[in-house]
Amino acid sequence: MKVADLPLLVCVDDESEVLDSLHRLFRHEFRVMPFTDPKKALKFISDYKKEIPIIISDFKMGPINGLDFLNTVKLKAPTSYRIILSGQIEIQHLSDSINDQIIHKFFMKPWDNEILKIQIKEVLQTRELMLEKERYKHLSITDPVTLLTNHRFFQESLSKELALCNESSPVSLLMIDVDHFKKYNDTHGHPAGDKLLQNIAARIKDGLMNIPCTVSRYGGEEFGVVLPFANKEEALRLAENIRASFEAIPFIGEDGKNSTITISCGVATAPTDTMDKAELINIADKALYKAKAEGRNRVCA
Ligand SMILES: [Mg+2]
Repeated sequence: MKVADLPLLVCVDDESEVLDSLHRLFRHEFRVMPFTDPKKALKFISDYKKEIPIIISDFKMGPINGLDFLNTVKLKAPTSYRIILSGQIEIQHLSDSINDQIIHKFFMKPWDNEILKIQIKEVLQTRELMLEKERYKHLSITDPVTLLTNHRFFQESLSKELALCNESSPVSLLMIDVDHFKKYNDTHGHPAGDKLLQNIAARIKDGLMNIPCTVSRYGGEEFGVVLPFANKEEALRLAENIRASFEAIPFIGEDGKNSTITISCGVATAPTDTMDKAELINIADKALYKAKAEGRNRVCA
């Protein structure tokens, strides 16, 4: 394997002898980037475009301590494993930093070469597993067509918000359905239908920009929006904005032709309508059904 293909290992220590030892120890498994100056290391980490699996830092480095350094690193490279390698550190400091997830591991100086190698290998494996877990978690809540969150996430987020809901902190639910979507699908084919769903998802999100909410694909051509802090009036206003934006701007299909797509929307609000999740969905669904029955392209509560 070429050095450039090896995973990156950033090492920061104010003693260049320590950096030399680490470089000798890991040069076959990693592309070692040594820094005696934490500021330069931080600049490198911030500018680096790809992932840095592991960052090892000394604790005492002149005026800067390794925990503060790694705390800043955490923001710049959240998926990197952050390790302190030090001979002198206060236990309380260390314990707090692990609890706050500023660092993942602490290894003692002086170290045994073979042991440190095994420990770093372990860290690399742990990180891989953690990233894989994250990927699965992401997949399990993502709708593959629209890349919105899916039905499962919708149910979870509605439960969470309802648990925090009260008179002064209402939660509203929008159920949005695309009018005559089946017809569009039949005319243009399923790939074009999927593309349209993606564009619809984007437009719904645009209409709710800077509004705290979760937009999920509920199923088929139906979308569920959970709006914490929104009372009925506010939810109706937001729904109406979205509806109007669909009516006003047609979608451009793959064939370059414009299609005006409209949506119907049902609105329900907790606690005024109900505090029960299933009941709230049911009420929003009924309102949506009413909007359809009254001729579509409208919002009903
Ligand atoms: Mg030092």
